[in-house]
Parts: sequence; C-alpha cells; structure tokens
Amino acid sequence: MTNSANITREPIVVADHLALDMLNTVAIINKQPDDFWKTDKDVIYWLEAVAKRKLPAKMAFQQGELLATARELRTVIHTLVENKKVDKLDSIQLLEPFLEASLSRISLKKNAEGQWQQVRCYNQDTIKQLLGPVTEAAAHLLTEVDFTLVRVCEHEECILWFLDRTKTHKRRWCSMALCGNRHKVAKHRKQKAQ
Ligand SMILES: [Zn+2]
Repeated sequence: MTNSANITREPIVVADHLALDMLNTVAIINKQPDDFWKTDKDVIYWLEAVAKRKLPAKMAFQQGELLATARELRTVIHTLVENKKVDKLDSIQLLEPFLEASLSRISLKKNAEGQWQQVRCYNQDTIKQLLGPVTEAAAHLLTEVDFTLVRVCEHEECILWFLDRTKTHKRRWCSMALCGNRHKVAKHRKQKAQ
C-alpha cells in the first residue's frame, strides 16, 4: 500500500531568492492552499535540494520538531515580508531568535581551479542552526533587496512569491510554464468567445 503523505513532492523553485522559495512551500493546488512540508523528511529534502545544504548524516531531534520549527520560521518570514511589502517593517523581533541561533564562520577551500576561496560554514548542531542559511537569506531579503521587485504572481489563484531579477522588471508570473500559460490560454479563450 502506498501512502501519499510519505512521498516528498518536488519543491517549487521559481522565486529567485531562497527566502521566497521557502514561502512558496505553500502553494494553491486545485484551488486549495497546500503545504509541501508535511513531515520532517519534506523539510530535509527541501534544505538539501533548494537551500543546497549538506546535512549531517545523523541528526538528533524529536519527530516533528524540524517540521514545526521550519514552519515557524516560514510564518515569521511571511509576516515580515508582508509587513515590508506595505512599508510597515517596524520590528524584526520575530526573526531575532533564529538569527541568534544561527552560527556561521568563514572557511577557506580550494575550488575546482585550485584557487583558495571563502566559503561560509554553518554550525548544524540544533534545528535552528540547520535553518541558519534560510534565516540569513531572510535577513538579506529584508535589508538588501528592492521590495518593489518582490511580488506575488499576478494570477488570481496563485500565491507564489518571486524576486523580479529580469532586466526590464516586468515579470508578472511565478513561471511562464505555470501561470503565464494559464493566463495566455484564458486570454485566448476570451478572444475566441467574443
Ligand atoms: Zn503563479
């Protein structure tokens, strides 16, 4: 018997910023909000595939703890992004415990060409530390990014965020393959009907 709840779905990666890709782990699927994170395993998969983390082979935490903390961070980032979007980011207090817990340092590693380069290494002893790179991505988003370019997809049934890094800054859709096409098809149908 297969249990669909145990299958990790491929994450949606369209945002062009890690912190926004994290928000996009909740999407509207078949007109319902759907959380791609349902188990610790889903979060681990996302951290490896999207945040490009190499996680320790053994991680000591209670079942459901990673999921709960990751969802908590996601809610925090969502709140702060919404606040910043309407120019009301008066406090980042919610993010502070996550920032405090995230410990990292610079290390030097040789790249493929044999050149030394700086690499940031993160402590991975606690759950908040596992989430450290995403926490820092959120800090970057909230301070370094032009928020007129941080937008939600224009499709009425879509809630996906993106950072518009296009040259013309006219990006409208989470992706052409998803909502861009949906829009085109709907427009075409409308024209045909007229
Ligand atoms: Zn969309």
